[in-house]
Amino acid sequence: MSILRKHLFDLPEGVIYLDGNSLGPLPKSVPARVAQAVTGQWGAHLIKGWNIDGWMAQPSQVGDRVGRLIGAAPGSVVMGDTLSIKVYQALSAALQMRPDRRVILSDSGNFPTDLYMAEGLIRHLGGTHRLHTVSPEAVMANITNEVAAVMLTQVDYRTGRLHDMAAITKAAHAAGAVMIWDLAHSAGALPVDLAGSGAEFAVGCSYKYLNGGPGAPAFIYVRPDIADRIDPALAGWLGHAAPFAFDLDYRPAPGVERMRVGTPPVLQMTALDAALDVWEGVDMAALREASIALSDRFIAEVEARCPDLVLASPRDAQQRGSQVSFHFAHGYAAMQALIAHGVIGDFRAPDIMRFGFTPLYIDAGDVTRAAEILARIIGERLWDNPAYHARQAVT
Ligand SMILES: *Cc1c(COP(=O)(O)O)cnc(C)c1O
Repeated sequence: MSILRKHLFDLPEGVIYLDGNSLGPLPKSVPARVAQAVTGQWGAHLIKGWNIDGWMAQPSQVGDRVGRLIGAAPGSVVMGDTLSIKVYQALSAALQMRPDRRVILSDSGNFPTDLYMAEGLIRHLGGTHRLHTVSPEAVMANITNEVAAVMLTQVDYRTGRLHDMAAITKAAHAAGAVMIWDLAHSAGALPVDLAGSGAEFAVGCSYKYLNGGPGAPAFIYVRPDIADRIDPALAGWLGHAAPFAFDLDYRPAPGVERMRVGTPPVLQMTALDAALDVWEGVDMAALREASIALSDRFIAEVEARCPDLVLASPRDAQQRGSQVSFHFAHGYAAMQALIAHGVIGDFRAPDIMRFGFTPLYIDAGDVTRAAEILARIIGERLWDNPAYHARQAVT
């Protein structure tokens, strides 16, 4: 049975959207729910909305819905803030768990903000720790008993290369290290067995494959058996055991709730909650199968038509997330031209044209059409136009 459910998305006519890995499109369920939250809740109920409309419980309730998609038990995921903040929280908690160790191991395929947050945390800890960033292939060999935390993004944002979550987590634990997974390009992209992996922490965002909209809240998972022992670095009042007691001293809430910080973004959370309706009944194994079929088809179509483009992603689908990238020297201009011709992907420096495959709203016909249009842009050098060379702020 097909898992295609294009009718649930509000996609502009004539556009083939291969950038749902960066910003998911608008599910049709969202506008009315957000409008109702604005006028029917905020407008009508004013501050009473916190109680009447359940705003305060949203971060956990929505967290449970995300949890189902990443293999996390109910009560182990909470929403809030941005992914950068969640990385900081997970990493600071992980370092506290290994006070005798000084090394954070990550890889060069990680997204820069994850590495920057680690560097910032290290500076503020007084420079006692060290970030060791190795190539993705060298991660396993560098998990030594000096490593406090292994912090990796499962799917490389540029190439789509996929880390073996179970194997790396096992190696981290064998060396006595704490494991942190960033699932930014995994949640909603492929099946994830977070609880089964045994990882202590996972984080991710909800505006990519989960379609929560620009600025949608991030998520954090803490393995339930350790959650009550974490002393949060960002000890906000809504992670307090009794926020409305207004105690002068911080006492953490039970479990993952302590990873909440401040007032939740109710309107964004409502948009995300409505967006998650499209995932009801989706079999993640079937999603993966469809994603691989679309990605393999795109690789074959592009390689047959565009000899100048060089595959930057693993050819083996089992080693890949739900995106495909190609190197092309004029990648920026080619992507601008492609967008102007109705196929939206994106560009990542220095020369990567990146395409995300999202089987809920992309089908084989879209993939073939996208490859045909790309072939015209490359074959006829349509990208070689000054209009497509001017760099915009967001690529
Ligand atoms: C998209 C992404 C981010 C973005 O972080 P924000 O704080 O939400 O801007 C961080 N890390 C990874 C791995 C990402 O893919």
